Amino acid sequence: FAKKTRGGYRFFEKTMSLSAVEGVILETDLRKALEQGEFELHYQPQYEVRGAGKLVGAEALIRWNHPQLGQIPPAKFIPLAEETGLIEPIGEWVIREVCLRLNEWKAKGWALPIAANLSVSQFRSGTLVDRIRGILDETGADPGLLELEITESMAMDAGQAYTVLHELSRLGVQISIDDFGTGYSSMAYLNKFPIHRLKIDRSFIDGIDRNGDNAAIVSAIATLGHHLNMNIVAEGVETREQVELLNRIGCDVAQGYYFSKPLPLDRFEALAGKAAWD
Ligand code: C2E
Ligand code: CA
Ligand code: CA
Ligand code: CA
Repeated sequence: FAKKTRGGYRFFEKTMSLSAVEGVILETDLRKALEQGEFELHYQPQYEVRGAGKLVGAEALIRWNHPQLGQIPPAKFIPLAEETGLIEPIGEWVIREVCLRLNEWKAKGWALPIAANLSVSQFRSGTLVDRIRGILDETGADPGLLELEITESMAMDAGQAYTVLHELSRLGVQISIDDFGTGYSSMAYLNKFPIHRLKIDRSFIDGIDRNGDNAAIVSAIATLGHHLNMNIVAEGVETREQVELLNRIGCDVAQGYYFSKPLPLDRFEALAGKAAWD
């Protein structure tokens, strides 16, 4: 897989929705984006399914405010950042931002956990644990409120994933499996790894109220996860009917457009400020 082509070319190969020209421009610009302060985190609220639907957390999702092209979604630049190695400093920026936010929110009396997404190359870098330990030390953020999202395929990544996850867990951070159910995976790793949450992929939530198969899959994942003492999050929840069904199935947390899109920081804080804190 270690093909020695230039990043821009492979980017073009992989994302056919972008023209070659766009790919080259983006790569050049991406190199400058961090120092120019063009990245921003948006926060999507997560709600308890049962009871009063309390605000229980947020997922941080990166946005790139490109000076000419406007806001570029992560699907368009994360793969490029992976190819070029730029994901390392970008990913570090994300975690530092999240930790600074955790501190600010704690000062407001909001004990709200924030989830950050890890990329494949970040996870495989060999320096992830040291970097995260460094950021936690530097910021003094509460590790228990930092949640790291990895995908199933990252967790399945042979021996080193086992070590990395246990070291992260020893730092006191929470670990979630993102897009659960879509990856190439074996259930065997679930009870061996320190995993705190399963985030059921949006594709299973979609049509859950019309499609009995999807409801059965979500229900089976929730049963399995609860058996292993994990918290179950449903992603991409878009309708009231889905929330009701998730409640009957026993999902713990829901996240999706039905509640809110990912929000810029000021709008998220306005929303959290109005939430009931008990
Ligand atoms: P993800 O981690 O699975 O994030 C959920 C995506 O689904 C987000 O897209 C979110 O805006 C979208 N979404 C949330 N609720 C709904 C809904 O009800 N319906 C639909 N149709 N979509 C919903 P976004 O922000 O464009 O992010 C896309 C992907 O980019 C993320 O998928 C994640 O894999 C990656 N990503 C985002 N931020 C970061 C980051 O800081 N670092 C890394 N490595 N990857 C990131
Ligand atoms: Ca995620
Ligand atoms: Ca996801
Ligand atoms: Ca994803």
